[in-house]
Amino acid sequence: MKHDRREFLKKAGFGALAGFGALAGVIPGLALEKTDAAAFSQKPEQGKTRWGMLIDTRACTEGCSRRVAACHHVHNVPDFGDPKNEVKWIWKSSYQEAFPTAPHQFPSRAVAEREVLTLCNHCAESPCTRACPTQATFNRRDGIVAMDYHRCIGCRFCMVACPYGSRSFNWLDPRPAIKEYYREYPTRERGVVEKCNFCSERLVKGLPPACVEACPENAITFGDLNDPGSLIRRMLSDNETMQRKPELGTLPSVFYII
Ligand code: SF4
Repeated sequence: MKHDRREFLKKAGFGALAGFGALAGVIPGLALEKTDAAAFSQKPEQGKTRWGMLIDTRACTEGCSRRVAACHHVHNVPDFGDPKNEVKWIWKSSYQEAFPTAPHQFPSRAVAEREVLTLCNHCAESPCTRACPTQATFNRRDGIVAMDYHRCIGCRFCMVACPYGSRSFNWLDPRPAIKEYYREYPTRERGVVEKCNFCSERLVKGLPPACVEACPENAITFGDLNDPGSLIRRMLSDNETMQRKPELGTLPSVFYII
């Protein structure tokens, strides 16, 4: 399942990238084996891409904390140290918490004890975006469900609509609770909702999502769900996978191998 660098750059549309001179310096980030098919939301075929993620929970032998820390660092996610005010973009859940509607009678011990990374599913049929009265959250053409923090009025309708608990609300000013300020991503304000953005600010630079980059076991595959030849599509073809609460019809873009 591994790509060599040449194949990867070919799939990444290196030729098309040449016109984006400002991006040339970030090409080394493309060498990651499990990041697939052009981390370029600005590639010419924009609108045909649907970004997706496949998490192989069997491969998460070192635990998921490193991915969570990497994501939260590069997005200035505050840590208030108490569950009441918790803000999270990606977090660890038990198998039962992640898949509450999956069959749970007599699971194997390995599955019952497994930690599962959970995040926004970037649903193709996203109830959160329909609930937002100001279009502060919206569906991008590349499948990412995005947030415009400046348009958010803090009504939290999106949080009620999300069946996965993927959104957090800043009850307090988040800035004092940022452990180590990361200057390349904006901070938010009190009264604003936030969530995972599939690292859209990194994709546009040709970089993989931070959680993918931080995963030493290559347990996370990221790529274009609309490209039948992409690594993620081939892995979906070759493996039995699950989505969270598929019966709701939200069409999550995050898949799991259990
Ligand atoms: Fe919206 Fe929740 Fe789906 Fe993310 S997981 S797109 S917040 S409904």
